[in-house]
Amino acid sequence: MTLPTSVALYNQGCRLNQAETATLEQQLITQGIQVVDMHAHPEVVIVNTCTVTENGDADTRRLVSKIVRDNPKCSIALIGCQAQILKDQLLKLPNVKWVVGNANKLTITDLIQQPVDQPQLVVPKIERQSFVVETAAIDLRHTRANLKVQDGCDFYCSFCVIPFARGPARSRVFEDAIRDAVHLVSAGHRELVLTGINVGTYADGSKRFPDLIDTLCRIDGLKRLRISSIEPTTVDWNIIELMAAENPLCQYLHLPIQSGTDDILERMSRKYSVAEYVSFVNRAVQLVPDIGLGTDVIVGFPGETDQLFNQTAELLDSLPFSYFHVFSYSERLYARSSKQTDKISPAEIHRRSKVLRDMSQRKKSAFMTRHIGREVLVLFESEKRGWWTGLTENYIRVSVPSTETLENQLLPVVLTQIEGDRMIGSVVKQ
Ligand code: SF4
Repeated sequence: MTLPTSVALYNQGCRLNQAETATLEQQLITQGIQVVDMHAHPEVVIVNTCTVTENGDADTRRLVSKIVRDNPKCSIALIGCQAQILKDQLLKLPNVKWVVGNANKLTITDLIQQPVDQPQLVVPKIERQSFVVETAAIDLRHTRANLKVQDGCDFYCSFCVIPFARGPARSRVFEDAIRDAVHLVSAGHRELVLTGINVGTYADGSKRFPDLIDTLCRIDGLKRLRISSIEPTTVDWNIIELMAAENPLCQYLHLPIQSGTDDILERMSRKYSVAEYVSFVNRAVQLVPDIGLGTDVIVGFPGETDQLFNQTAELLDSLPFSYFHVFSYSERLYARSSKQTDKISPAEIHRRSKVLRDMSQRKKSAFMTRHIGREVLVLFESEKRGWWTGLTENYIRVSVPSTETLENQLLPVVLTQIEGDRMIGSVVKQ
């Protein structure tokens, strides 16, 4: 194989993968390799894979077949979570030349520049050590940039394969995270999203997550700092106090609850009770009344009877969520819950998911309705058919009509009405 001059990148899965894919793109550009899309018939396609659900695994196999069909001569690199867990299976897929686990995924841009006689497997054990990321995850296609500050997890919730795929909890060197954030802001990103697997466990020497947030908030030119998703037991109260004060930290929390009953939480090996979760949320909403509060919930976990499901649904309805992400329980290799026998049928999981998805929609609408008539700041991202859309700090997606470009502008907007799924507003003339 000759050394590649063009590469396509494909990202699957979570925000942390997005951050890493953005870093890979910057590395390739620095190395003088053209980054193209799939249609340009690149010589190499790098897929940053996800294994959080069975669907993720099937998506990768489908994607590989499609790449080979459209571009039979290309070489494929499969990197990341699936490579870590399913390395031997991935290596057998057509055109796959490299399978690289999470510890070495950022070296793929060097590996593809070395001649290969036969497919390479690079999946060493992931060590627990602080890390640096030399190349900034500048993401020219998005207004917001993801700042990777943490990786791995030690919690081992019984349904979750992530500790096996991502390895033990480890944190980015504090000074390296700050240096990168300054770089991203000077490259034009006005909002940074703090990203990791279990960000609340951030620890580099004496520096903890609130120290990181406090220092990041002082960066000149940074307008918004958002925490992506954070485990309920890891949110230091200082963080909520920072949200209440005047600073770039967004009034937004995505706090996965997973179930609304102690019985299932215990089976899931979650680290909190329903009462602890509820008490935290109520205190947070008291201090930050307009907080955008999202959550994740799993339906159909083994042993979730009708009664337990109804309890979860009632609890979710009673809490001040502005949306939830509903996940159908999916059995994962390595995850302890796959050994539990009292399984729920797929049809019932489907029914329960629908109940909660409809409820989430209603709660989202109610949250948006509360904001009608208010003036808020919106950071605009993209345009479609004459409508510019962006987010408020508490995560309401707002659309305004505009013939002028509003990209990356933070503007005051009066919210006027809801149309379908979106909030409509108009920019306040200054
Ligand atoms: S906290 Fe639980 S759900 Fe989240 S990554 Fe760790 S093990 Fe998985």
